Amino acid sequence: MTGSEICSKDKCSGCMACFNVCPKACISMTPGKLDHLYPEVNQDLCINCRMCQRVCPENNHLSLHYPLTAFAGWHSDREQYLTSTSGGAATAFAQTIIRRGGVVYGCASEPGLKFRHTRIADLESLVRLKGSKYVQSDIGHIYSNVKQDLKSSLTVLFIGTPCQCAGLKSYLGKDYDNLYCVDLICHGVPSQKLLKKHLNKISSGKADYVTFRKGNDMALRVFDKSGEKIYYSNVWNQRYRDVYYSAFIDGYTYRDSCYSCGYARPERCSDVTIGDFWGLSNTVEHDSVNGCSCILPITEKGYKLVKESELTLIERSVAEAVDGNSQLRHPSRKTRRVRVFQSLLSVFGADCAYRLCELDRIFTLRIIKPIRRRLKV
Ligand SMILES: Cc1cc2nc3c(=O)[nH]c(=O)nc-3n(C[C@H](O)[C@H](O)[C@H](O)COP(=O)(O)OP(=O)(O)OC[C@H]3O[C@@H](n4cnc5c(N)ncnc54)[C@H](O)[C@@H]3O)c2cc1C
Repeated sequence: MTGSEICSKDKCSGCMACFNVCPKACISMTPGKLDHLYPEVNQDLCINCRMCQRVCPENNHLSLHYPLTAFAGWHSDREQYLTSTSGGAATAFAQTIIRRGGVVYGCASEPGLKFRHTRIADLESLVRLKGSKYVQSDIGHIYSNVKQDLKSSLTVLFIGTPCQCAGLKSYLGKDYDNLYCVDLICHGVPSQKLLKKHLNKISSGKADYVTFRKGNDMALRVFDKSGEKIYYSNVWNQRYRDVYYSAFIDGYTYRDSCYSCGYARPERCSDVTIGDFWGLSNTVEHDSVNGCSCILPITEKGYKLVKESELTLIERSVAEAVDGNSQLRHPSRKTRRVRVFQSLLSVFGADCAYRLCELDRIFTLRIIKPIRRRLKV
């Protein structure tokens, strides 16, 4: 068995189901294009059992289901709401599960620039999961930890990208009544190595911790070991200043699989889908500055979790949610610019290739627009 026999490289989402299932632990994740991680099989240890191939969600597509309804919502506790990404739905679900004696698995941003899925069992530690990390989270051996918890009859909430939820479900191979899966609406993930290289460059190696969003303020904030903020760049107000964030927003640095993602559609693989409620009618009274969650219950179990959580909910139509959020309709587009970027990568590196591909837009923004403003034309 080789890595590309598990599934084709352009389809591999890096969900790590194969890595978790291998009985000989002979699969490692190694960097490929744009430093994204792909499975590599140690031929000396492999016994050709093909469990990695069988467990891959690319080879065995999960059944997907259309949402039961849609809610615009936010955490009813103002403090929790303001410290979350969109409306704090993920935090509200996590609190519900922990109050029931369960455990939560989600992506934590950790000092030392690590972004990995971790197990949280108490309310105080939930803060570690808060906030979107615009990078691919490291799953490690989390799926096998989830299985152990499920077998010990603990209630488990797993929060992740759709491909990670699919990876977990494929790995488990059967439904568990005590498992809740919540997936994020996702437009694609850059690799951790790409982010680390960038952070080290902009901070001369001082970066220790980062955040990507505070409500609707989409800004990269970088902190050093003492907790002092050493860098801030808002991706919209300071367009093109931060190359990592700009390239992420413009869809240049995702995995190849993100451009053909099978989960970027209204039908979903989890119990609840959450994201930003973009396109929410302005007749709905909500805090548009600090964000609003789009909450799509997919299963009855998911619906109950939504209703029992500390959320202020306004029922909307699924069509409104889907219309406002392109990731619920189709994957990110691999535009001609992205294709050119990928062919320039090996020669120029990611930063320079991105700037070259956006040169016309950067020129318009930095040169043409200020001239027009001055001339008032
Ligand atoms: C890479 C990425 C791309 C996204 N793209 C879109 C999009 O196109 N459209 C849209 O509507 N929403 C998108 N989102 C979702 C959105 O940014 C919020 O994460 C989501 O609405 C949850 O907000 P919240 O306030 O409920 O979460 P919070 O209460 O702030 O909690 C955040 C939750 O997200 C999980 N999480 C954070 N980062 C990651 C990660 N890298 N991998 C896996 N899980 C993670 C954490 O475990 C935590 O449970 C994206 C999120 C990510 C991470």
